Amino acid sequence: MTHHVVIVGAGFGGLAAAQELAGTDVKITIIDQRNHHLFQPLLYQVGTAVLATSEIAWPIRHLVRKRKEITTLLGEVTGVDTLNRRVLLDDGGVVAYDSLVLATGARHAYFGHDEWEPHAPGLKTLEDATAIRRRILLSFERAERETDPDARAALLTFVIVGGGPTGVELAGAIAELAHQNLPEDYRRIDTRKARVVLIEAGPRILPSFAPDLSAYAHASLQRQGVEIQLGRAVRACSADGVIYGDRPLAAKVILWAAGVRASSAAAWVGLPADAAGRAKVEPDLTAAGHPEIFVIGDTATISAWHGNPVPGIAPAAKQQGMHVARTIAKRLRGDAAARNFRYKHAGSLATIGKRAAVIDFGAVKVRGWLAWWLWGLAHIYFLIGLRNRLAVALSWLWIYFTGNRSACLITQGERLTGQ
Ligand SMILES: Cc1cc2nc3c(=O)[nH]c(=O)nc-3n(C[C@H](O)[C@H](O)[C@H](O)COP(=O)(O)OP(=O)(O)OC[C@H]3O[C@@H](n4cnc5c(N)ncnc54)[C@H](O)[C@@H]3O)c2cc1C
Repeated sequence: MTHHVVIVGAGFGGLAAAQELAGTDVKITIIDQRNHHLFQPLLYQVGTAVLATSEIAWPIRHLVRKRKEITTLLGEVTGVDTLNRRVLLDDGGVVAYDSLVLATGARHAYFGHDEWEPHAPGLKTLEDATAIRRRILLSFERAERETDPDARAALLTFVIVGGGPTGVELAGAIAELAHQNLPEDYRRIDTRKARVVLIEAGPRILPSFAPDLSAYAHASLQRQGVEIQLGRAVRACSADGVIYGDRPLAAKVILWAAGVRASSAAAWVGLPADAAGRAKVEPDLTAAGHPEIFVIGDTATISAWHGNPVPGIAPAAKQQGMHVARTIAKRLRGDAAARNFRYKHAGSLATIGKRAAVIDFGAVKVRGWLAWWLWGLAHIYFLIGLRNRLAVALSWLWIYFTGNRSACLITQGERLTGQ
């Protein structure tokens, strides 16, 4: 019987595992709760009306159409029967496996305050991005009709919680939208007066970058008109705004970019987890006591980066996916030796706005317009397919030269009231 590899999650890790298994004598089943693979690094650009959804997502089925040994199933996994080696689906379905790769990622988390989510949505899925875009654009629309100055000011105040790469990218993109792209479109409001406030509880933004790059990003965001509040944690989020430290701030759009929570993979296979719910895996990425189960990417934690935890970024998930695929292939060739995973860090990137980005390669650090062009080229390179590369490059060049964002569409309900 052909060895059956079940991969749960067709994100960066799961897809890399499937790709690396090409040519190995296995049959593969990919299960994902969504029908598309998503390029999350550019999600914020869908949320801020730069790109359309179809430019950063691809049907999984289509991506693996030439690999006849791969079956793709749309379904939500709710558990794993480790004794009988079966994956359990929410509709009662089961899928048997010989090897199992759990690559189910993470979602944003609210530090125990899930009640904040309706007021401060996070960014993880295409639906999140279009909902955020809708919120931002609706707020400008409402402000255009609002006559009360305080209410109008709240509608034109955009708060981003969390100063990591996603928060920084969102803040820069919203400031650019409000201060550069939209002013001509409105008659009663001056969108240049919109406030974009980035709140970070720690002492600096981009804490995973070198301090001088953080400082550069800070100054660069401020030049774009972003207000940065450091050292005060958000204590409350409501429909009327936030309280950070002891300060209230009236704002109708609050976006959450502050914390993540791993999928339930650790619980499915009975593994210990860290504070963010990430499964603690063995050095070879297997689940303790279950060499046939691998847990990878954002849903796992492992100190395999010179003794430090591997970061929750796409290249790490990809490297882990490739590693487990090679382990499975070697086992099938009779080599059962455990192969410890070692993470190789190529660099950290974040864009701050038009012509400004930071790249931390470790020994080499790049900032400014050169980093911005490198960031753009790297992202275009990692997109899948020529059509999307051309479409994204064209959208960026169009905005760069004309300032017009073509994706300023309010969808999913057109009402001016409610969210
Ligand atoms: C807004 C944002 C910006 C980011 N920017 C960058 C960046 O610039 N650079 C970078 O390197 N990284 C970035 N990241 C992080 C990067 O996207 C993740 O580290 C990477 O996606 C992790 O890959 P993964 O395979 O572990 O999980 P994911 O890519 O998240 O894939 C998980 C998959 O599992 C599926 N799934 C989840 N639960 C289930 C279930 N129960 N049943 C079935 N399927 C399930 C999901 O639908 C999804 O397709 C960003 C992340 C976000 C959210």
